[in-house]
Order: sequence, then structure tokens, then C-alpha cells
Amino acid sequence: MSSKLAIISVVGSLNVDLVTRTSRVPVGGETLTSESFDIGYGGKGANQAVACARLSRTQKQASNGESSDVEVRMVGAVGDDQFGQPFLESLRKDGLKTDRIDVLKGKTTGVAVIIVESQTGQNRIMFCPGANYDVPVTDLIDDDSSVALFQLELPMEVVLYNMKVARDKGVEVIINPAPATPLPEEAYKDLNHLIVNETEAAILSGIENPTNWDEVASIFVKRGVKNIIITLGGDGVYYQTDKLHSQSKPGKLVPAREVKVVDTTAAGDTFLGAYTVAVAHWKANPQGEFDLDSTIAYANRAASLTVQRKGAQSSIPWVDEVPQS
Ligand code: ADP
Repeated sequence: MSSKLAIISVVGSLNVDLVTRTSRVPVGGETLTSESFDIGYGGKGANQAVACARLSRTQKQASNGESSDVEVRMVGAVGDDQFGQPFLESLRKDGLKTDRIDVLKGKTTGVAVIIVESQTGQNRIMFCPGANYDVPVTDLIDDDSSVALFQLELPMEVVLYNMKVARDKGVEVIINPAPATPLPEEAYKDLNHLIVNETEAAILSGIENPTNWDEVASIFVKRGVKNIIITLGGDGVYYQTDKLHSQSKPGKLVPAREVKVVDTTAAGDTFLGAYTVAVAHWKANPQGEFDLDSTIAYANRAASLTVQRKGAQSSIPWVDEVPQS
């Protein structure tokens, strides 16, 4: 039996990270020679889109331009400056479709200027959203999408409008509300998948320094969320569903894999990518209920690879790297 192509629309941000390292930060009026300079492609949207693409194809498939059973469409905007086209090129190398990214005339691509002070390890970041904030409040969800994945680095109105559009079209909605910003009540109603880390869980639930994750998860279920997933860094993942909650059953905790941690950057984005690909596979070719337990276990395994590697996008694994169990 031939299976249907799963389509993921990632509606989100595209930022270029300009990273320079220095032993100390210059004072006003001072020029310092820095230790290094690197350009990296990022933004929560682009990182999660890259994670979706890599976790649904092998590196060989991507470099040969071969298709896989999941198509990942990045939806957003860059400027027509020196960063825009190379950014799109880099996404295409990972196997992403970039036709839904607008290249806006006279606009700059979103940029984060990051000064890393090696003495203290502290980052100082100036973020200029550029084209990200010019994404229009219009229907950005293709009708053939299986899943729409959102974060909060685009204007809130764009996200809320398109979450509703996706829901009305029967597209499975996943949101990672990062950076943490309270959402209006209606955003939670009938929301398929909410994935938060500890900070986002605390801010969005209104519970300061939470320790009882069942209590936190229940708040979201009562607001209308069907699957609430709270990633707990080195403590693993806690998740609860509307079904378990209605039977007065607690959620489940999956411990993190015991690995040698090098750099946790992009762990959450990898988790999101792995989870989203699993949802997309199920939505395009449903066979019974969505298997949340094995999806969480899989995403936990994928994210454990990322923490063992240095870097952001560069540390996100390809599908054939993720251990089977
Ligand atoms: P974020 O990057 O959004 O803050 P988390 O830090 O909660 O997300 O990490 C996301 C997931 O990455 C975790 O749920 C876990 O699966 C994995 N992970 C994070 N830190 C570790 C760790 N120290 N050891 C093993 N896995 C980890």
C-alpha cells in the first residue's frame, strides 16, 4: 500500500547569529580585537524546521536531493540583503522546501549580534527581528499540510491567526510558546499539542517555581489542551493528556538518557522536530490512535544526541543517527 506524503508547515522565525568571542566586553568608546567570529543560521522556527527535515531523512538523502516521506516547508520571511539567499540555500541543503519563505525587498534578515565574554561565559545579545516582523497576518497554511508547527518569535497576531486557520483546515497544531509569553485563553481550546520547557511551563501556567508537574499539566488540560508535554532538561519529560486527566490518572515521567553532556543548545528544538515528524507520519497515514508514549520516548532519544554535541543547528541529528531503543 503506498503511503501519503506527510507535510509539515513550520511557521516561524529565521535569524542569522553573528557571534564574536572576547575575553572581556569593551567599555563605551573602546575597540577590542575579538578572539573569533562566526555566522550561524538560527531562529527557533528555522532550528525546529531543520530538526524536522533531518529527523525525516538521512544526510545522504538530503545531499543527493532525494525526497523522503515527509516534506518540511519553512514559512516566514528574510530580507533581500546578503544573508537572505545564503540562508535559504543552507535550509535547502538540509532538505527543506523554501518556496514559502518571502524574500522581502528593502528589508533586512533577522539578526542576533551576540558577544560571548569568555571570562564570565555571559552572552550579550542584540536582536533585530527585521523581516520576521513583516510576516503578514494572512493565511500561511497550505491546505495539504498534515501538521503546522509554531513558536512565538513571529508577531503574536500572525501566530494566533494561523493557529486558528490550521485548526479550521483540520491540520494538526503543535505549538512551542518560546520565548515564553502568555497566550489568550482561546489559543488553548482544542489545542492538539503544547510543548513547553520548565520556564515556559511556569510562566504560562502562572505557577512560580513549579515542582508538581501534574498540577501544572492539569492547568493546561483544563484550558483545552489535548497533549501537554513539559521537557525538564536533564530530568527528562513529563506529559499528560486530556484522556488520562478525565480518568483522574496522573501523567507520565520519562527520565532523560544518561549521556555525557557537552552543550544543551538546540536540545528542545530537536525534541520538537522529532515529535513533530512522528505526528506528521501519523496524521498523513493514521493507523489507530496516535502513539504518544513511543513518540515521547523517540524524541527523548533524539534530543539526547544533541546534548552530546557542541553547537546549535550543527548538533541536530539525522534520522539514521537516532538509536532504535
Ligand atoms: P529547552 O532546550 O527548550 O530548554 P530542555 O532543556 O527541557 O529544552 O531539553 C529538551 C529535551 O532534551 C529534554 O526533555 C531531554 O529529552 C533532552 N535533554 C536535555 N538536557 C539533557 C541532559 N542533560 N541529558 C539528557 N537529555 C537531555
